[in-house]
Amino acid sequence: MYPFATIKAYQQQLFNGTTSCKQAVEYYLAQTKKFAHLNALLHVFPKEALQRAAALDEQRAAGKQPGKLHGVVVTVKDVIAWEQHPLSASSNILRNFHSIYNATAVQKLLAEDAIIIGINNCDEFAMGSSNENSAFGPVKNKLDESRVPGGSSGGSAVAVQADLCMVSLGSDTGGSVRQPADFCGIVGVKPSYGRVSRHGLIAYGSSFDQIGVLSQNVEDAALVLSVIAGADDYDSTVSTIPVPDYTAAVSSTAKPVLGYFKQTLTHAGLDEEIRNSHISLIEKLKADGYEVKELDFDLIDYIVPTYYVLTTAEASSNLSRYDGVRYGYRSTPVREELTEFYSANRSEGFGKEVQRRIMLGTFVLSAGYYDAYYTKAQQVRRKLYDQTKLVFSEIDALLMPVSPSTAFKIGEKSSNPIEMYLADIYTVFANLVGIPGVSIPLFQHSNGLPFGLQLMAKHFDELSLLGLADHLMKHYKAS
Ligand code: GLN
Repeated sequence: MYPFATIKAYQQQLFNGTTSCKQAVEYYLAQTKKFAHLNALLHVFPKEALQRAAALDEQRAAGKQPGKLHGVVVTVKDVIAWEQHPLSASSNILRNFHSIYNATAVQKLLAEDAIIIGINNCDEFAMGSSNENSAFGPVKNKLDESRVPGGSSGGSAVAVQADLCMVSLGSDTGGSVRQPADFCGIVGVKPSYGRVSRHGLIAYGSSFDQIGVLSQNVEDAALVLSVIAGADDYDSTVSTIPVPDYTAAVSSTAKPVLGYFKQTLTHAGLDEEIRNSHISLIEKLKADGYEVKELDFDLIDYIVPTYYVLTTAEASSNLSRYDGVRYGYRSTPVREELTEFYSANRSEGFGKEVQRRIMLGTFVLSAGYYDAYYTKAQQVRRKLYDQTKLVFSEIDALLMPVSPSTAFKIGEKSSNPIEMYLADIYTVFANLVGIPGVSIPLFQHSNGLPFGLQLMAKHFDELSLLGLADHLMKHYKAS
């Protein structure tokens, strides 16, 4: 019976009585045990999940109006606050910290009857592309356990990939939902900046961060996004644009005008087979009557540096609150002198990559270098934004690879941060300009690993984006 093809199919079975929330939770709990060695979940809450399942089963039997996510088994990334549950950003500095409130996204999931069963491992403070930066050890890709699942939402991706839950929440500052989805052969959706509230999401780069959804299919992600999106008094950057029912996008027959940036496919770092699969797909789409425009994008080599200047600057400011004074890790013996006290807490509490980024961010914001780096990067961001406006006056959706390679080996890139950063080349664009992006698992590499196609649309056009993504998944997926 489990897993179901879609959440809708599962809910139909719930309502015709052929399954129950309790059975669903028991199945997923058994899966979390079976695949515990993948390290995708830092915490599982069997008792609580079973209690909630039983309560929902009773409510259904009593004829209570069900929530949109009635009985849906979910896991959430360890940067998203869930009241009275551990929240550590996979960092030693927050080890044993428990959240005292719910993120808005979590609040909305719970209000619609979802069952959260666990918390996903991730790169520390969502900084990374491989999940190797977690203080709780790396996550393994179920398709090849010697390989990374991608990051930073690696645990959220593997939880869906290994069927430890129906859907998961991740966060995407520069690709952290789309890239692990790509490496794990699942769907990843990063909404427009301002579509989902960031209240209760541990901040990394506040002008980039968005909560996103990882799922087995587009329909499930659309359903979850319909629930978590929308205005929120706790986050003034969330848009008040009404939230459509994104599930209406599914089975869309629209034929949007498509486009791709020439330079993304000719880039030297791109794996040959990934390139060829994209070119063949474009040819196939053209043959099927799609208009596909080739566009110029000469700023390609600026996007990764711009992203890393701006996000590290924002991170250096956001992470200054972890000082060991109010909460979090405190080094012992406690230092008497204040600077030494901060320094000991932060040097022992933060991992290497987080420290590297705090230092880089502090440097680009420092008096003598501010204009050369931070101001310059803001100017490039503005240019990219303006160019994006023009691009989407010509096309409806932009096609791009998600990552230049398939899932790499654990340890392969961890000693070379620059190489790791450069691999974000295709994902950071959407965050720099704030547009929505999805990764759909269309392709299979001859090395046996999956890889995806990335689709992007203009701001707040998730509906057309998901419609196209669903259509391509159903008609263009290599078997
Ligand atoms: N890999 C990118 C980084 O390390 C993206 C991370 C993210 O989206 N959270 O910054």
